[in-house]
Amino acid sequence: MADIAANLRAVQERVRDAALRSSRDPDEVELLVVTKTWPVPIVEEVIAAGATILGENKLQEASEKIPQLPRADLHWHFIGHLQRNKARKALELFGTLHSLDSMRLARHVDRIAGELECRPVVYLQVNAAGEASKSGFSEEELLEGLAELMALNHLQVRGLMAIPPAVETPAQARASFQALRDLRDRCEAVSGVSLPGLSMGMSHDYEVAIEEGATIVRVGSSIFGPRQPMV
Ligand SMILES: *Cc1c(COP(=O)(O)O)cnc(C)c1O
Repeated sequence: MADIAANLRAVQERVRDAALRSSRDPDEVELLVVTKTWPVPIVEEVIAAGATILGENKLQEASEKIPQLPRADLHWHFIGHLQRNKARKALELFGTLHSLDSMRLARHVDRIAGELECRPVVYLQVNAAGEASKSGFSEEELLEGLAELMALNHLQVRGLMAIPPAVETPAQARASFQALRDLRDRCEAVSGVSLPGLSMGMSHDYEVAIEEGATIVRVGSSIFGPRQPMV
């Protein structure tokens, strides 16, 4: 069994060290603990150890788990691909969505958020490499759509998110993180809006992501151990 509390502490320390190493304020970097596939008693363990920002990637699984963990101090973030017909369910469960991946979805989520009278925090998912297996805005779509996106009143657009292509080494991942940060800077320059958030970095590369400007890293297996299917 993984020692979840010790692992969480170790990751928190590495997050902090990576921030300090790159002359950043450690308070600028949030740790999103990815609880997908882990059953409620395990999630309770990481909460007891101090985790407050938790992430799930499947609505079915989340709708079973989240109601069993009714605590006001928890922040649930959705990190999976969102289908439009599930937007209402997602907004009922999650205050933050990391995976707004098209204009169509953004308009729809905005409309549903209006109906539910909520204002979710959202990240725009970018698929700069154009990988067929992943969804997300291309750079062109993002730059073209930005003015409309920022005008969607029920969305709090926090920034950009990416799941970079699998690479061999953290050093190779660095280029993807730099590219996302550069794209964010260009978005800010062309539109004059502020997009402070960069959701990037997972277990194998979160420290590099922080060195390149991540404001929230999404970490699962470094805390829980390798994922296993839910029983
Ligand atoms: C599963 C997942 C993570 C966490 O991955 P680990 O390698 O276990 O840290 C992060 N982001 C997304 C979008 C995921 O689906």
